[in-house]
Amino acid sequence: MIIKKSRDEIDKMARAGAVVARAHEELMAQLVPGMSTLDLDRIAEDVIVRSGAVPSFKGYRGFPATLCTSPNDQIVHGIPSAEVVLEEGDVISIDCGAIVDGFHGDSATTLIVGGDAATTPQVRELVASTRNAMWRGLEQARPGNRLGDIGAAVQQVADERGYGVVREYVGHGIGRALHEDPSVPNYGRAGKGMRLSKGWVIAIEPMFNLGSEATRTLEDEWTVVTADGSLSAHWEHTVAVTPDGPWVLTARADEPAHPLDEVVPTY
Ligand code: MG
Ligand code: MG
Repeated sequence: MIIKKSRDEIDKMARAGAVVARAHEELMAQLVPGMSTLDLDRIAEDVIVRSGAVPSFKGYRGFPATLCTSPNDQIVHGIPSAEVVLEEGDVISIDCGAIVDGFHGDSATTLIVGGDAATTPQVRELVASTRNAMWRGLEQARPGNRLGDIGAAVQQVADERGYGVVREYVGHGIGRALHEDPSVPNYGRAGKGMRLSKGWVIAIEPMFNLGSEATRTLEDEWTVVTADGSLSAHWEHTVAVTPDGPWVLTARADEPAHPLDEVVPTY
């Protein structure tokens, strides 16, 4: 069942989204080689708690941390650890959620440790294309469009470059629960699927692999990796479907909150 949100509820979700955006901005500012993924977790938790918000993931089905930190061949749901020390050129997916007034915001980035110059053009393109695909999907989040319009827009970016599109993990509705209906796949056919309407709030989160789409879960029962060991990237924003078009609730200061009205950078 899809739970539509009132304007008042979307305003609350925007406040949750702003906290998540601030956490990511702080992580982007502070990430350097030699940090552990637990260091990242502490930075994010500090921002969230100081904002008067609550981490979404900590305690969710027993998850032990504020962030999911998933380096290199890890796709999603990696557990922060003092033993995972990031080196120059590593690719790190950072997923963060926060609750304000009972409503969640959810957003992920994928960063190259040491900056873009620290890796190869092939890896830079994987990261940038996944981010692009997220924006192509966000632009489709408007009343009257269908879920397949989002999936098709995301998938097209991957298909152009031959990336594996992860199918077992998808975007989702979000509100008082971190995961609500509907599922928002990163593949599909334009014009197919449920019709979006005003008041929907969904997380759009493409996960692209340099190799095959197949995944595997590690023995910790959380960490999802690529089955072939190839690198993976993951970007996510929470978006409200409004009569004026998509409103990206987790947009950071350098990103358009209203992608139909503002310039969307090409990554
Ligand atoms: Mg997330
Ligand atoms: Mg999500």
